[in-house]
Formats: sequence, C-alpha cells, structure tokens
Amino acid sequence: MRTERETRSKFIMVKCNDCENEQVIFDHASTSAKCNVCGRTLVVPKGGKAEIRSRVIKVFE
Ligand SMILES: [Zn+2]
Repeated sequence: MRTERETRSKFIMVKCNDCENEQVIFDHASTSAKCNVCGRTLVVPKGGKAEIRSRVIKVFE
C-alpha cells in the first residue's frame, strides 16, 4: 500500500460529453464538478483521486 503524503494534484481540461463545453477541473477534487453549461457531472470524488466522467483533453503538469 502506497501512502502519498504530498498532494500532487493536477489540473486537467475535460470536455463535456453532452454539450462539448471545455472546462478545467482539479483531478483531486473532493467535491464533484459539474459542467458550467449543462450541469452534467464531469468528475466525482473517489477516495482522494477524482473519477473523471468525461473526456480528458489536456493535463497541466
Ligand atoms: Zn455540458
């Protein structure tokens, strides 16, 4: 089991599956993120790392 003390979070750009809106979200989101345009859930929190429920376009390292 790996424990990561430092939080290496990234910002990622995703594209909404429904309305094609591109949005930058946090990949360690502790709350779910919704599309600013149509309200579709783009990311849900899953034990520290978020589960992306849309297409990832770009990752900002
Ligand atoms: Zn949308």
